[in-house]
Amino acid sequence: MSVEQRIEFLKNEINKSNYKYYVEENPYLSDIEYDEMFAELKKLEEQYPLLKTPDSPTQRVGSISEKFFSHKHKYRLYSLDNTYNAEELTIWYEKICKEYEQELELVCELKIDGLAIALTYEQGLFTLGVTRGDGVTGENITQNLKTVKAIPLKLFEPKTLEVRGEIYMPKSSFDKLNEDALEKGEKVFANPRNAASGSLRQLDSTITAKRDLSMFTYTGIFEDDADKQIKTHYDGMMKLKELGFKINPNIRLVKNIKEAIEYCNEWETKRFDLDYATDGVVIKINNIAIQKDLGYTARAPKWATAFKFPPEEVTTKLREIELNTGKTGIITPVAVLDPVALGGSIVSRASLHNFDEIKRLDIRIGDTVLIKKAAEIIPKVIKVMDTPEHETLPEYQLPDKCPACDAPLIEKEGEVGLYCSNPNCAQIMCAKIEYWASKEAMDIDKVGPAVIQQLYAKKFISNAVDLYKLTMQDFMQLDSVKEKSASNIYNSIQESKNRPLNRLLTAMGIRHVGKETAEILAGEFPSLDLLISAPLEELAKIEGIGDIIAKSIFDFFHDEENLKMIEELKEIGINPQAKAKPKSDKLSGKTFVLTGTLQNMTRDEASAIIKSHGGKTSSSVSKKTSYVLAGENAGSKLDKALDLGVIILTEDDFLEMIKE
Ligand code: NAD
Repeated sequence: MSVEQRIEFLKNEINKSNYKYYVEENPYLSDIEYDEMFAELKKLEEQYPLLKTPDSPTQRVGSISEKFFSHKHKYRLYSLDNTYNAEELTIWYEKICKEYEQELELVCELKIDGLAIALTYEQGLFTLGVTRGDGVTGENITQNLKTVKAIPLKLFEPKTLEVRGEIYMPKSSFDKLNEDALEKGEKVFANPRNAASGSLRQLDSTITAKRDLSMFTYTGIFEDDADKQIKTHYDGMMKLKELGFKINPNIRLVKNIKEAIEYCNEWETKRFDLDYATDGVVIKINNIAIQKDLGYTARAPKWATAFKFPPEEVTTKLREIELNTGKTGIITPVAVLDPVALGGSIVSRASLHNFDEIKRLDIRIGDTVLIKKAAEIIPKVIKVMDTPEHETLPEYQLPDKCPACDAPLIEKEGEVGLYCSNPNCAQIMCAKIEYWASKEAMDIDKVGPAVIQQLYAKKFISNAVDLYKLTMQDFMQLDSVKEKSASNIYNSIQESKNRPLNRLLTAMGIRHVGKETAEILAGEFPSLDLLISAPLEELAKIEGIGDIIAKSIFDFFHDEENLKMIEELKEIGINPQAKAKPKSDKLSGKTFVLTGTLQNMTRDEASAIIKSHGGKTSSSVSKKTSYVLAGENAGSKLDKALDLGVIILTEDDFLEMIKE
């Protein structure tokens, strides 16, 4: 392909994907693929300036649909140049510093992944709201924007100005919206950005009003003379806050690019704690006179740039659907993918949830799929990309045999999914033992799936209790296990004998009893014996345990096989006693969120203390949080608490609270 042909190809692809992304809100490329093509086109146009045409996407911003009345912007809206790489940021900064012969202050802001809008205020009143559109003309969506509570309809001062901001949908509201849509069999949104954009561009503003949208304001163009004197972007932002606009609390003024890169690195991981999507950091020169002097390219300001985080979403090819048999016999499909970089690691497998999901998304082997990763969560397939190949591929056929033992698959009454019909399926047994040894259960860290499969195949074990009967010599018969690792395996099994009652209850794999219910049970019944003798009515009365769970617990402890296992456990020396009832109820009704490193106790210990006084803990800060207990190096949870006005306790405050 000649350079000319390549440029033409890139221009076509980018224009096509712009339309799909901005107008149809149904992109067929992932952002990183788009950004790579865009960067390639920009580079080729720099090398061959004669081939750069005014219709090139590098000379334009976004796209506009014809859904609403269009409105020509008073001040043009731009996009941002971006990079995924810290070195390029430094080059950008140093070039500007060299030009102005000084080290320049920067403002770092999270790049909110939503929809850009411009709002006009006259004498303090909101009069007009327009989407960015192609930067010159946008869509007039004033009525819809009036339903967004974070947009003040009247400012604290009667100012005339235009502000720009990003409309977004909180992740929690996005999940809820999709859950509801799924229940009603309606269309789900691929990500919070699409949901925000789709909700805002509704022709009926009562629909928009029902969606939980918010906005962070990130720029103001002031018209009043006094405000025109504001000399820095940071001061401008503080002024916007004073006027009543919501600005992102994580904004930071820094001295140089080194500190800006530190900010980027910090947020690359902390972003997952936020309830809104951010795809990077926007870095802006703070001095407004220098901003004005630097000006704009055809598409973006020269005084700002975006550092993009490694993508949370990418597309790749689905090569195969692998089937796994779980501890209840349920068959779960797993996507086997062409390896691809995602969120800082290489991913080659992703969750497909269940067969209903495969049907709902119409996933076919050979499809190009969009996968997504959030913090510490296994990536999942969220969408099939709209490619021409899709229709040519055969529809996925449901399996009829267990992938482990070939037994026929069955459906269970009242349950979703397909199950292996063989109660003695080796894989079901191994999965049960794997669950027993897992981190949230008995936490036997040296006994993973590979060790369990071998022990089972050699008939050394047929259930989890057998693990405790094995000797060092037994482990030395496993592949590539020498004395040292045999002793490690042995010791980690023995150590697990001391796990508390809640963990043992989790490990037993009682139907409907996960980690949290096990904790409730251990809080109510200090020993296995007391739990075994509890009448069904008593179980059903416990808060957090309904009739179905109570029945499942009751049945489990009245099953002969299970009682035999409990006797065996006792003989081995596993019979934990939980701590007695709560010490007090002084924290009853209070919810704590823990963050940072505590000096006198671990976070787990602090949680146990809170629970022993009747309180609860939660992993994320919301309006319902009573207190945030913050240790050293507290992270974004502290910022969020400050933002929401939640009471923040030091460790000393907390200890004092307990003592009283
Ligand atoms: P962008 O979203 O990358 O960056 C510019 C926008 O950032 C601004 O318009 C503004 O709305 C927003 N922003 C958020 N926080 C901000 C802050 N604190 N300060 C200033 N601005 C802030 O640019 P774009 O032009 O909207 O879109 C281009 C990007 O969209 C591409 O880089 C690509 O990732 C994606 N895209 C993808 C496809 C696709 O097919 N997948 C197609 C088109 C665009």
